[in-house]
Amino acid sequence: MSEPYFRTGPGPVQISREAIQGRVRELGQRISQDYGSEPLHAICVLNGAFPFMADLVRNISRPLTVDFLSVSSYGSRTESSGEVRLVKDLDQSLKGKHVLLVEDIIDTGLTMQYLLGYLQGRAPHSVRVASLLSKPSRRLVEVPIHYLGFEIEDAYVYGYGLDIDHEYRNLPFVTSLRPGEGEA
Ligand code: IMP
Repeated sequence: MSEPYFRTGPGPVQISREAIQGRVRELGQRISQDYGSEPLHAICVLNGAFPFMADLVRNISRPLTVDFLSVSSYGSRTESSGEVRLVKDLDQSLKGKHVLLVEDIIDTGLTMQYLLGYLQGRAPHSVRVASLLSKPSRRLVEVPIHYLGFEIEDAYVYGYGLDIDHEYRNLPFVTSLRPGEGEA
């Protein structure tokens, strides 16, 4: 394999391609067991969750439909303002469906809080959250995470869908900046 292209020297959080694939397989198996024969409606939060969504749904051996939405939050790269705006809406109704919301990372929790409120207003049967990553030390509001990939410390992470100024989403692993590195 060719040399990965890092923006900087590797920081404190490193999650290999193998570790991610192993964990996503486990989550897919748990989700398949938990929902039994109930059809599932998986919603991907664009852009960051697209690789996680693609790998996760292929590990769920149950009837499943997919949809996509996109939000943007105001603020700088490292500090969310808490103001979230819907950029791309869902295409399908949620009425009576078992929704699995698939997110890349939960940091302050403000985006997830907004999304859960938005989805609940569309009369789903149930809503659960799958997130690849969580930074609990950064939380400003408590939000449920039913299926979590990895709990990580407070570092800016990128790769496997997560970006730095729109780059690096294609890395098959997660890596991080060192504290203070790359801040605007
Ligand atoms: P929250 O609203 O603070 O929980 O932030 C959620 C969103 O911020 C995520 O969906 C990501 O788009 C972005 N985000 C938070 N932390 C990171 C990070 O370390 N790397 C890349 N994006 C991040």
